[in-house]
Amino acid sequence: MNNYVYTIGNKIYINLTNRCSNRCDFCIRQGRKGMGQTPLWIDCEPDADEVIMQLPQNLDDYDGEVVFCGFGEPTYNLDTLEEVASYLHCVDKTTRINTNGQANLIHGRDVSDVIADSCNVVNVSLNECNADKYQEHCNSVFGTKAFDELLQFAQLCKQRGANVIFSVVDSIGAADIAECQRLADSLGIPLRVRVKE
Ligand code: SF4
Repeated sequence: MNNYVYTIGNKIYINLTNRCSNRCDFCIRQGRKGMGQTPLWIDCEPDADEVIMQLPQNLDDYDGEVVFCGFGEPTYNLDTLEEVASYLHCVDKTTRINTNGQANLIHGRDVSDVIADSCNVVNVSLNECNADKYQEHCNSVFGTKAFDELLQFAQLCKQRGANVIFSVVDSIGAADIAECQRLADSLGIPLRVRVKE
């Protein structure tokens, strides 16, 4: 079975794709098949109905925020994301996406309006403090331009009204975290430093 929806505690997560434009050194996909007991590799990407059918019946018992975050970059499956988000908003859920910020490169056009309309919170993984370090550890198929593009994407989503957050993992070290903080501050976007699991 393809698991398009999984839960951790009382939080619902949506798994839309296995595709990703990055191959990060630290990606949890390396050597892992899923989250806890839930396999997240999927044979084919879902349409919106297939996702909605897998949502828990007792939606109200879960957290008010549903998160697009699975074993790939969610924006690859943009149409489904948009439709599922619209459904979730209709049933009084808010939405968050955890993204690598490369959606405009992936689609070859500006899709930040779709993301900002669909996702109340846009969590862009900054990962590193400059383009060279980002490429060294994240290996984007778009090369070093991926970093500047993700910064641009975050700003566009913010301009369009989304609550945008950058995130880094603390394993990059204090000096690089400080550099990321300066960068985030210069763009007026909060930075969340996650503790490496
Ligand atoms: S962007 Fe996320 S899903 Fe893609 S390789 Fe990096 S950690 Fe994995």
